[in-house]
Amino acid sequence: MRGDWDAVIAGAGPAGSTTAMLLARAGARVLLLDRARFPRDKPCSEYLSPQTTSVLARLGDGVLEEVAAAAPARLNGMQIVAPSGVAATGRFLTFSYALPRTRFDLILRRAAERAGAEVREGIKVEELVSDGERISGVIATRMGAGSREQYRAPVVVGADGLHSIVARRLGLVRHSYPRRVAFTAHVSDARDVIDMGEMHVGDTGAYVGLGPIGDGLTTVALVVPARHAAAHRGVDHFFDALAHFPRLAGRFDRRRLVRGLLATGPFAQWSHRPVAPEGGALLVGDAADFFDPFTGQGIYSALRGAELAAATLIGDKPLAAYARARRREFTGKWLLERLIAIGIGWPALAERAIRRLARRPELADLFVRATGNTIPARRALSPAVLARVLL
Ligand SMILES: Cc1cc2nc3c(=O)[nH]c(=O)nc-3n(C[C@H](O)[C@H](O)[C@H](O)COP(=O)(O)OP(=O)(O)OC[C@H]3O[C@@H](n4cnc5c(N)ncnc54)[C@H](O)[C@@H]3O)c2cc1C
Repeated sequence: MRGDWDAVIAGAGPAGSTTAMLLARAGARVLLLDRARFPRDKPCSEYLSPQTTSVLARLGDGVLEEVAAAAPARLNGMQIVAPSGVAATGRFLTFSYALPRTRFDLILRRAAERAGAEVREGIKVEELVSDGERISGVIATRMGAGSREQYRAPVVVGADGLHSIVARRLGLVRHSYPRRVAFTAHVSDARDVIDMGEMHVGDTGAYVGLGPIGDGLTTVALVVPARHAAAHRGVDHFFDALAHFPRLAGRFDRRRLVRGLLATGPFAQWSHRPVAPEGGALLVGDAADFFDPFTGQGIYSALRGAELAAATLIGDKPLAAYARARRREFTGKWLLERLIAIGIGWPALAERAIRRLARRPELADLFVRATGNTIPARRALSPAVLARVLL
């Protein structure tokens, strides 16, 4: 065995912590590095799609119980609002949790540590090391101190999120349309918040996702085309933009902003394969592919991807098996997400589809359950269903 570790993981978000937890439980010596210090915040709408609950239950070690005890909100479905204000409601089969990422990510990171992974915070991965062609470790900088260290392992896992340095160093990053950026906020005492997530589609390619996350807080994400990003910077612009959505006007008091705005993007970034062609490295979570936040599938995909990565590594299978497992697992979700992400950029199309869903609650349920991962995405993608929604 080469190096001090069996696996070095860059990024201790949901994807990295879960991969670390599963590998460490199987007896691997795992080093989990993150440039941040936890608890750390993350721009997100903070909703765990319903199927995430099953993954958390599978992780065991009280992880699901800790999430349930962290006083999260429970969501029973999604309300999708058209540019005109017409609303469709889709109900989940079971409720889903929603809670601040500061709490959720810390629960997973601690569980990785309990499982035996060594966690080091304030360490930023910057370069990959290779033996010949094959990746064999990382070079990282200790934040603040500036000193660089090398960590060697037969496997490097890139779980370092949307702008993954591991994916970039492997030359795997691709971009696609539509490029969007997001501004997220926590607001207290928002009016008319219900036990559902809300997605409001605007008439300029922008949308807003919001929902309760417990303790009287509402998480609000404004997502705009990247070319409009500069016009939306700052708290006043953020609240002014919300007021342009017909069902959001008057619901927020900007003095009740309880956390500064967090910005992130542009999205629509993915890796054209989730494994290093030369071997020795693989990608999980947003580092592998970033789902448009509209469908709220990112955390589920991070956790499920971590399960697939760990199964490949523990079973000592070739990394190509991981790539195949991801394709089997995620192809339907990718298609559904692409379809929705592109559709939002066409307000007239979005208006028509949401009006149809409002008139046919069974179709709204179908779409909301497919994006919530409780039914296969292909059921929402069947030509008969798409025709009923779009034609
Ligand atoms: C506006 C918005 C709303 C969203 N809403 C939802 C939602 O409601 N539900 C949902 O399921 N998903 C949502 N998502 C997606 C979700 O946030 C991500 O899919 C999820 O966080 C992916 O987890 P991850 O572990 O791959 O990456 P992250 O959570 O981004 O974690 C990556 C970690 O890597 C660390 N890191 C980065 N670079 C380095 C480096 N060089 N060295 C060391 N460490 C590094 C970071 O500090 C971070 O801790 C949303 C995303 C956005 C942008």
